[in-house]
Amino acid sequence: MPIKILESSVISKIAAGEVVERPASVVKELLENSLDANSKNITVEIQGSGLNLIRISDDGDGIPSGEVELAFVRHATSKLSVAHDLDSIKTLGFRGEALASIAAVSIVRISSRYKHENEGTSLHLVAGNLRNRRIIGIPVGTVIEIEDLFHNARPRLKFLKSASTEKGLIKRLVTKYAMAYADVRFSFISEGRMRFQTDGKGKVLDVVNSIYGVDVGSKMLEIGPYERDDVTVNGLISKPDLSRSNRQDITLIINGRNVIDSQLNVAIMRAYHTMLMRKKFPIAFISISVTNSEVDVNVHPTKSEVRFVEKTKIFRSIEGAVRQTLLGNVSSTGLLQFDNAVKPQDKYFHKLNLSDKETVNKSNNLSEQYIEKMVDMGMPVLRSIGQVSNAYLIAEGPDGLHVIDQHAAHERILYEKYVSEYKVGRVQSQMLLESEIIHTISEDTETLRGILDKLHNLGFDIEYFGNDRFIIRAVPHLIDKLDFKQVISSILDKGADDVYGIPEWTEDKLIKKVCRLIAVRAGKTLSCDEQMALLRDLEKCENPSTCPHGRPTIIHYSFASMRNQFGRTGS
Ligand code: ADP
Ligand code: MG
Repeated sequence: MPIKILESSVISKIAAGEVVERPASVVKELLENSLDANSKNITVEIQGSGLNLIRISDDGDGIPSGEVELAFVRHATSKLSVAHDLDSIKTLGFRGEALASIAAVSIVRISSRYKHENEGTSLHLVAGNLRNRRIIGIPVGTVIEIEDLFHNARPRLKFLKSASTEKGLIKRLVTKYAMAYADVRFSFISEGRMRFQTDGKGKVLDVVNSIYGVDVGSKMLEIGPYERDDVTVNGLISKPDLSRSNRQDITLIINGRNVIDSQLNVAIMRAYHTMLMRKKFPIAFISISVTNSEVDVNVHPTKSEVRFVEKTKIFRSIEGAVRQTLLGNVSSTGLLQFDNAVKPQDKYFHKLNLSDKETVNKSNNLSEQYIEKMVDMGMPVLRSIGQVSNAYLIAEGPDGLHVIDQHAAHERILYEKYVSEYKVGRVQSQMLLESEIIHTISEDTETLRGILDKLHNLGFDIEYFGNDRFIIRAVPHLIDKLDFKQVISSILDKGADDVYGIPEWTEDKLIKKVCRLIAVRAGKTLSCDEQMALLRDLEKCENPSTCPHGRPTIIHYSFASMRNQFGRTGS
């Protein structure tokens, strides 16, 4: 798209505001421009912590010679045309304001050669006014230099932190983009020294190794990819024995965009529950992909905050992905396999002076209602403690103990899995090695013949053979091959749920029946791995708190109620 000035009707729909607060915000805008231009190599160079010079060189598409001046006009962009485009923005920029805002408070030199042109164009602007224009011979791409930032807006200097803090902010920012775009080769030069260079080969772990060093890299765990509710989570998280005393090394990337979201940070911290000491934070790089229409990026001038159509989906996916990755490091004995793994007694009787809810609340300033909602929205991630009476699992969550009925929970898991496969017409069947013939009494023959179509939709391959005989060739994969006759006979069994003695089988009823029959029974001993798998699967359910027939799957004892019952006051 050529660069054009947006129409006022579109401008009015864009979240406006100042984007140039500090050197790091200039670097962010320029980096985003280079990435939007499909660059494969980007070099960021700063001097005087970015106030004397910021130079960004890229080998991207470049700017057509006839459009370079226009790029510095407010609301001129090549990334957006009509208001409707705002609904599904794929580029990092779209407001057409950055270059204009930056140029207004600095001296800019830009040289750019467009990929379809033979020569480049060079401009020199002082406080936004064009001083010089030249045609020059340069490779395809763009080099932009920002000198003397804020020289004509000195009050802004007052709001800057120390030189080393500002440098640190820039380095962290470039680091985050280098991780988010591991297929781009980034070089970062600060005060004349190369601070890091990535290889651009697409592996985030290699980026981490080249920026943080291999000691940190060796303590990172790779996530997934983890998929849930149409959200895909990728990334790296630190093992619990590597932590930081602040959140600054938590990076959240949504559709390639670096965002700040304290609520989603809570999802990460909840997943680490009881694995990290209080006031310790992981190094985490979490990259999320969702359809663009699920995210509104047009909410904040710096585009670093986004709004989701369904935030709980994102929250649960992040929590699930991080938790699953951490628990993937759990051995069959249930002990964490980290270098300084907590001893079982520490792990099981971990003392929390504050519940997670309170910790999060104090450190994040999140509203109590929000946390409450998160805790009540779905099931929290649980840590299995064990099985009692061969029927119930005991688990610890962020706020107390949970007792899980293993049969009811498994019924719920099977039911949701079966229904989701059925809804998309993809119930998986398994062929029997040898077809089986069953005989029915004539009354049942009618019933079974009446529901053959439905059973077919549910993964059974059953055909009427004549003379009260049916041939069974395949059954749903969820059913153990040995159990299928029992499943069919119990479908034919006129049970208490049949009105007037005539079974009215809907697909949903059939699914429920099958799940009840095949779910793990009370009385069965489950191994540690099986207990954990059951909890993980239950966490993924839409409605984890009841079985398909409405009975509860989980009973919760909050820490508050325990404190109360033990007559403890205070913590
Ligand atoms: P936006 O990124 O929101 O479009 P900017 O003011 O940041 O607004 O940039 C204006 C335009 O200049 C962009 O739309 C793009 O066409 C062009 N541009 C800026 N930087 C580059 C670059 N490094 N490579 C190619 N084109 C660029
Ligand atoms: Mg931009």
